[in-house]
Amino acid sequence: MVTPIPAAHDGGVAPPYARIATEEAFMTRDVYAATRRVIEEHAIDDPGFYALQGHYLTSTSERSTFIASRLQDLGDRRIADMDATGISMQILGLTAPGVQIFDAETAVSLAAATNDELAEACRRHPDRFAGLATIAPQAPAKAAEELSRAVTQLGLKGAMINSHTRGEYLDDPKFWDIFEAAQSLGVPVYIHPVTPPPNMIGPFLERGLEGAIFGFAVETALHMMRLIVGGVFDRFPDLTITVGHLGEGLPFWLYRLDYMHKASVTAKRYEAMQPLQRKVSDYLKENFFYTTSGMPWEPAILYTRSVVGADRVMYAMDYPYEYVAEEVVMSDALPLDAEEKRAFFQGIAEKVFSL
Ligand code: MN
Repeated sequence: MVTPIPAAHDGGVAPPYARIATEEAFMTRDVYAATRRVIEEHAIDDPGFYALQGHYLTSTSERSTFIASRLQDLGDRRIADMDATGISMQILGLTAPGVQIFDAETAVSLAAATNDELAEACRRHPDRFAGLATIAPQAPAKAAEELSRAVTQLGLKGAMINSHTRGEYLDDPKFWDIFEAAQSLGVPVYIHPVTPPPNMIGPFLERGLEGAIFGFAVETALHMMRLIVGGVFDRFPDLTITVGHLGEGLPFWLYRLDYMHKASVTAKRYEAMQPLQRKVSDYLKENFFYTTSGMPWEPAILYTRSVVGADRVMYAMDYPYEYVAEEVVMSDALPLDAEEKRAFFQGIAEKVFSL
């Protein structure tokens, strides 16, 4: 049972809903050490990785220091920050790029250890934390097994995948063991942004646009579109994908996506673009859930609700990258009635993540 907690701006009175923040990041000591090693040895060819974690894990700026230390806390300090902003529960996922930059063997073992640690934190604070499993797409069958172990034995609520894995996307059928497992377990796969892969990142890096400001959304929206156009949801019709940042821009595109997909399929323009059972927009309305991480902006939230469905858009903060009390105030002020607001902050998350 998730209990409402008053934020500073609630004046000491708990709100009529529990705020469940659904895209909240952490990092274990082991993943931190392994990630630092890759940075120091310059062990992989991935400019986006060095731009992202190379910055957050080595910069001495106030923002980086805040984030690097907060990421590794799954205890009192994190809970104090949640209390201060009235967050009842965080849905935790290993921060990008997670284990997806490592070789398969390292990734598989770090994923299991991460899930054990996360499950332990959730057991210590069952009313404050729930978790999404880390899996290593580099080893798809093992990733599916680990997801199953994490859900059935550790009580985790789904999987967190930090978008592409060394430049590869989950529409490749070699990864579909993961979707098979998620669908049969009835848990969501959260596709979280990461920086674009090496063959895409050049023009983004030239202007500092590869990260959360813009490149994340472009890369993750591309991943979403590859899943849809690649027929993943025709093969796995009950698969649920959760995405942040109000759908990475795609809700704005529904009309054009449908129009151009139909035109391309009708013209038999691409071998890789075959007819689908439903319209592109149908998959975005029926297989995806959306969170507001980093997008606490009323016009965008109301618009997204209006096109994908009010029952598909839920609250997220994006802690510790986004830890701004005013954004909670903005979300509380959305012009929704009491029932809608309870669904937005609490009810949809309880359903999607089986809380
Ligand atoms: Mn995030």
